[in-house]
Amino acid sequence: MFDYKNLHVQDPEVLTIIKKEMKRQSEEMELIASENYVSKAVLEAMGTVLTNKYSEGYPGHRYYGGNQIIDEVETIAIERAKKLFKAEHVNVQPLSGSPANAAVYFAFLKPGDKVLGLRLDHGGHLSHGHPVNFSGLLYNFTQYEVDMQTGMIDMEKVREIALREKPKMIVAGYSAYSREIEWQKFKDIADEVGAFTFADIAHTAGLIAAGEMASPVPFFDVVSTTTHKTLRGPRGAIIMCQEQFAKQIDRAVFPGMQGGPHDHITAAKAVAFGEALQPEFKQYAKQVIANAKTMAEEFIKFGYRVISGGTDNHLMVVDMTSKGISGKEAENILDRCGISVSRSTIPNDPNPPMNPSGVRFGTPAITTRGLKQEEIKSLATWINAGIEHRDEPEMLDKIKDQVREMCLNFLIPSI
Ligand SMILES: *Cc1c(COP(=O)(O)O)cnc(C)c1O
Repeated sequence: MFDYKNLHVQDPEVLTIIKKEMKRQSEEMELIASENYVSKAVLEAMGTVLTNKYSEGYPGHRYYGGNQIIDEVETIAIERAKKLFKAEHVNVQPLSGSPANAAVYFAFLKPGDKVLGLRLDHGGHLSHGHPVNFSGLLYNFTQYEVDMQTGMIDMEKVREIALREKPKMIVAGYSAYSREIEWQKFKDIADEVGAFTFADIAHTAGLIAAGEMASPVPFFDVVSTTTHKTLRGPRGAIIMCQEQFAKQIDRAVFPGMQGGPHDHITAAKAVAFGEALQPEFKQYAKQVIANAKTMAEEFIKFGYRVISGGTDNHLMVVDMTSKGISGKEAENILDRCGISVSRSTIPNDPNPPMNPSGVRFGTPAITTRGLKQEEIKSLATWINAGIEHRDEPEMLDKIKDQVREMCLNFLIPSI
């Protein structure tokens, strides 16, 4: 789409790297659950002169001159996000998911306050209280878990922990959890102990916006999401909240956590929200889930242990030790076949985080590319063949060729 004329003349070194990555993305299959391909329109909005502007503050109240036009773009982004998620208030300035969560904690908590979050190795996110992350360092997190039998969150246990710990906030919404979340039950427990409710829908936002998964937005106090995962926008995040918390959220984002917003990204967020409001986006979201369900079924047929026995969303965590291999080894073999995945812990993983037992697979990117159930079945067959014949280089070469051929039949939108 871009001709890169200027980059070609001025900095061929960097352009060469960009072109290599374009080729890699075109010819390889992306099964990393947090990734996606933005549209040409979203990409164009990002590459604009809006990046030149400083606009600390909010529409109508800026700390720099010349922001009348930037106000228009931020206002459109806010209005579209409100409509998309039926939110009372939206802040579209967070630079990414982790900074958005930092702002949420900053708005509602004091350092040392008690919070409940899901354990990282059970599907939670670093920013939900992991000891190496700012969240675990600044706040007093207690971690809840999934049930070892079902692989699902045990709401009775969550209630027990909440009654015991009396947290100031309960966090729900995860990075490696494949089931519907019982938002209403979280809300009931939080009400019982007087805690704030915070949903982090970074992974499932696109599916929620499309109405294909239940939304916490109508009754949770505050909801954050990245914009670049299933929502298929630019890298970034937004925070939604009830009107009564609007001021404290806005103040926490700026001047609390951030300086100037990235206005070119705000424009791209507006474009992505516009796309997500179209009927085609609902079709995409439905297909993402149908593809994930098919993939999970195929893995189960091939004898893999899928955590929780299946999926309600776009991802699944698969225990690779059921095939005598670690998650990291599986990641390397699939890389060799032109298939990108991310290794993942499984609940109560006996292996260390750098070499965990599982792999997380996701379908958003390949669905954007146009793959449907039939192609998913081929892909699952190749993945299984790669794992089972990992010691046969000719077999891995053959799989790589098949993957590449399929990729060239399903082009990514921006190339
Ligand atoms: C991806 C993710 C984030 C962090 O987003 P970044 O943009 O990588 O900072 C936060 N929370 C959850 C649940 C996520 O999955």
